[in-house]
Amino acid sequence: AKEAGKGGYRFFDAHLSDQLVRRLNWQKELKHAIEHEELLLHYQPRVDAVTGEITSLEALVRWKHPEHGMVPPDAFISVAEETGLIVPLGEQVIHQACRQLAQWRRDGIPLVPVAVNVSARQINGGSVSSTVHYCMKAYAIEPALLEIEITESETVAGSKIAAEEIAALQRMELSLYVDDFGTGYSSLSQLQHLDMQGLKVDRAFTSQLAKPSGVELFRAIVSMAHAIDMLVVAEGVETVEQLHTLQALGCNEIQGYFISKPVPPDNAAALIQRKKLF
Ligand code: C2E
Ligand code: CA
Ligand code: CA
Ligand code: CA
Repeated sequence: AKEAGKGGYRFFDAHLSDQLVRRLNWQKELKHAIEHEELLLHYQPRVDAVTGEITSLEALVRWKHPEHGMVPPDAFISVAEETGLIVPLGEQVIHQACRQLAQWRRDGIPLVPVAVNVSARQINGGSVSSTVHYCMKAYAIEPALLEIEITESETVAGSKIAAEEIAALQRMELSLYVDDFGTGYSSLSQLQHLDMQGLKVDRAFTSQLAKPSGVELFRAIVSMAHAIDMLVVAEGVETVEQLHTLQALGCNEIQGYFISKPVPPDNAAALIQRKKLF
């Protein structure tokens, strides 16, 4: 418990400034990383729940830090969001994803769509659609090859800029997915209004599929999503039992360690060429 009085206050204060310094350091380093291309993408496949065929590759950003090694996004995305660095970071991710598709095309690898993550803060920055437009032109990438995953949140559901960005992406004929569905606040009626292609149901729901109540909850999500013409993707599928339950529920696609962890580009190219992943 926190101590009242001077001693406790001083302790709390020191801790805070310590955190602040660490945060400022991260911010400085992250800025440097963006400018010096220390960020790279790994790819995790998503597959058709019935056939096992690859439907898409999700681009997941990694920071190849000179001292700390490979830093996962959970360690820096929130700093990037709080400092506004998410905007240049996001631009670089979109560039890299398009550049990778162009590279695979040159290498004669059959292409599957790449899904890029876009945070609420980023979409509220208002420049996602113009970045996508620019990159698609620069790398000659057709809209069917790019998907956007937008984390569900109040910020997106209620924001005018976000709605305009989403509409602009839809005019360019990109497929849009609600990411981490079930962890935020949006209702399905708000989602119906946004007219997106699918829902990615958060891993928290997949992990409950061993329980009857977890199955019923997932069944309800699938039936509501299908009622408004949205595809359902289950995230975080780790076992064959989960796969079988999801197949029985009519879930459209799955993603997770059961199929593959996120992998570097060369391994991703090898996965594409295998076509069926179960
Ligand atoms: P997400 O979009 O929900 O991505 C899925 C995360 O779950 C990934 O972690 C992935 O490695 C992990 N995962 C996938 N399958 C399984 C599984 O079967 N079991 C378990 N336990 N985990 C699994 P990662 O790569 O660390 O990414 C974390 C989050 O960082 C992402 O969550 C996404 O919200 C964010 N992120 C990643 N790249 C970007 C980016 O380029 N831009 C933005 N704005 N956010 C990003
Ligand atoms: Ca995602
Ligand atoms: Ca997700
Ligand atoms: Ca997530």
